[in-house]
Amino acid sequence: MTAARTQSQFDVVIVGAGAVGTAFACALRNSGLRIALLDAREPSLFSAAAEVDLRVFAISPASQRILDALGAWPTIQAERVAAYTEMHVWDATGSGRIHFDCAEVGEPALGYIVENRLIQHALWIQLQTADNITAFYPVTPEAVVIDAEQVTLMLQDGRCLHTRLLVAADGAESATRKLVGIETRTASYGQKAIVAHVATQKPHRHTAWQRFLPSGPIALLPLPDGRSSVVWSLDNTCAEEVQQMDDMGFCAAVTAATAAILGQVTSTTPRAAFPLQRMHVREYVRPRFALIGDAAHTLHPLAGQGVNLGFMDMAALSNIILDAQLRHRDLGDLGVLRRYQRARKGDNMAMITALDGFKRLFSNDIAPLTWMRNTGLWSVDRFTPLKSAFMRHAMGLTANFTASMR
Ligand SMILES: Cc1cc2nc3c(=O)[nH]c(=O)nc-3n(C[C@H](O)[C@H](O)[C@H](O)COP(=O)(O)OP(=O)(O)OC[C@H]3O[C@@H](n4cnc5c(N)ncnc54)[C@H](O)[C@@H]3O)c2cc1C
Repeated sequence: MTAARTQSQFDVVIVGAGAVGTAFACALRNSGLRIALLDAREPSLFSAAAEVDLRVFAISPASQRILDALGAWPTIQAERVAAYTEMHVWDATGSGRIHFDCAEVGEPALGYIVENRLIQHALWIQLQTADNITAFYPVTPEAVVIDAEQVTLMLQDGRCLHTRLLVAADGAESATRKLVGIETRTASYGQKAIVAHVATQKPHRHTAWQRFLPSGPIALLPLPDGRSSVVWSLDNTCAEEVQQMDDMGFCAAVTAATAAILGQVTSTTPRAAFPLQRMHVREYVRPRFALIGDAAHTLHPLAGQGVNLGFMDMAALSNIILDAQLRHRDLGDLGVLRRYQRARKGDNMAMITALDGFKRLFSNDIAPLTWMRNTGLWSVDRFTPLKSAFMRHAMGLTANFTASMR
């Protein structure tokens, strides 16, 4: 990878070096295409001596395979990662519960809990040996002009980049998306997710635990050091109260909200809160422009799918670009880019809608709905073919994106 110098002509410019944008650059690193990767911040450094990043993701086996194909997984494994082999989901109102075990689908794990910072670090290492990738940071785009032949990207520091294809991976508030004028369908959940890492009396047993309360779901995700990561979604006013609690009060509240499934919560890190919204762009592509990851969609974290969908976006787009390059087609051609939109928009929409329905179904204690969800959980838990199909889909095992990445 080269640091930004005078080069200004590229084949692909990626705005946003989060997990998804960096993975996308990695997927194109052996293509010979001239790539620029931009971010508003310096790359985040991982240190094994530092406290575990508060932003941890449950990544699916499909995402693990993508990271492996990109060469990043061995670094992640050598640092710290927790596989979870089981998952228990249960309803606070009633007796509905469902249990998933990786053995039911013949996989070594249902998923892996990995720090965002570590994913980026491991991908960044892979980019170090690529001589076709130029990194620009800290920079932000100020203006975008798309014409028939190329895209011109003006940066706030006065520099100007030209590219055949511009890809926005700059997160939910994507400035690039706004500069290009892509509209979104957005709705706030009126909730915040409070996250913290906690120590508990009982071991987590490499299991992800999730309890649905009328005020929102709370999850305990296993960390490699024996603690658990709490992700607690709450309506804004309740979230405010929980944020104001002292550490002892917070530990007691988490113990109560999880029905002491891991015994008492004995200590906590400082907390962070993330406002939750559902967002989906109306168009994934325009001539010479594409959106991937949170720049294209955000969803409720209750099923931990955001970055998993982002990895599938970037894998689909990189496959299509590599294929276009092989066929000597223009990478920015709308016909080429529409293949990406067709591959991802429907799947992402289905996941956003399903999680929305889930969130609504579980966020109340109205008797008929309580009955419906308890019966639903109970039935799926016992109907093995349906449960396996559901698991395989959630684990991303029904699609294969890794073939062309190796
Ligand atoms: C509480 C919570 C828990 C979650 N848990 C999970 C989970 O368990 N599993 C899962 O799959 N997903 C989870 N998600 C979703 C996940 O966080 C996102 O889907 C993921 O971070 C998206 O990655 P990204 O690279 O697309 O965007 P981001 O992580 O937002 O990265 C965007 C990058 O763009 C840069 N940038 C922003 N603006 C500009 C600009 N103007 N110019 C240049 N650069 C810019 C930023 O600095 C950043 O590096 C969770 C989300 C929340 C809120």
